[in-house]
Amino acid sequence: MFINKVETSFEAAHRLHTYRGKCRHIHGHSWNVTVEIRAEGLGRSKKTPPGMVMDFSVIRRIVNEEIISLLDHTLILSAKDPLAKHLFHFEENLKVILMPNRYLEPTCENIASWCFDLLKVTKLEEEYSCTISSVTISEGDGNSCRYE
Ligand SMILES: [Zn+2]
Repeated sequence: MFINKVETSFEAAHRLHTYRGKCRHIHGHSWNVTVEIRAEGLGRSKKTPPGMVMDFSVIRRIVNEEIISLLDHTLILSAKDPLAKHLFHFEENLKVILMPNRYLEPTCENIASWCFDLLKVTKLEEEYSCTISSVTISEGDGNSCRYE
């Protein structure tokens, strides 16, 4: 079994509007993203160079397209956060990202799960005969969540 890992990061603010602590307030993190790709063998796809699970640049490009370009320099809110409608009313072009309803609040756990799902719906696994095995999201302060 081979496991390839790509690490990258993005900057974003969030708040947990139902939380009864300091994370209720808008604050930012330098979020680290780690994506692990698992494969039974090397070069299992016609697109893969010999001796590789997958070209690292391919994994990185897809992570950038699906996760980083969506979340970098944004404010991530729950779709149910009452602040959201006021922000859009104030300025339409604000980069406010609403978590899809099923993820509820933009916690580290829910962002990891959401990013995992965003990668799973790409054709990455099919095209490269691999499995996206986990996404780890870190708030950059030693706290992280790994979703498998
Ligand atoms: Zn936070």
